Amino acid sequence: MARKTILVCDNCGKEVDEAQGAVMRLSWSDARRGAKEADLCGECAGSMPGRQVARRGRRPKSASATE
Ligand SMILES: [Zn+2]
Repeated sequence: MARKTILVCDNCGKEVDEAQGAVMRLSWSDARRGAKEADLCGECAGSMPGRQVARRGRRPKSASATE
């Protein structure tokens, strides 16, 4: 299976180089609604709203303090 999947940015429609790509995952508060994902190019990913999320496994002590 040598066929390469071409990833296209869901925001701007540009082809995404695998090394530059990103996936944005959106989870509804209401779990019944499930979740959705968007493939993004590096540029779009950088301009998306959102905050840095700590990697799993370690919980910062100041978690969910006043924002
Ligand atoms: Zn893009």
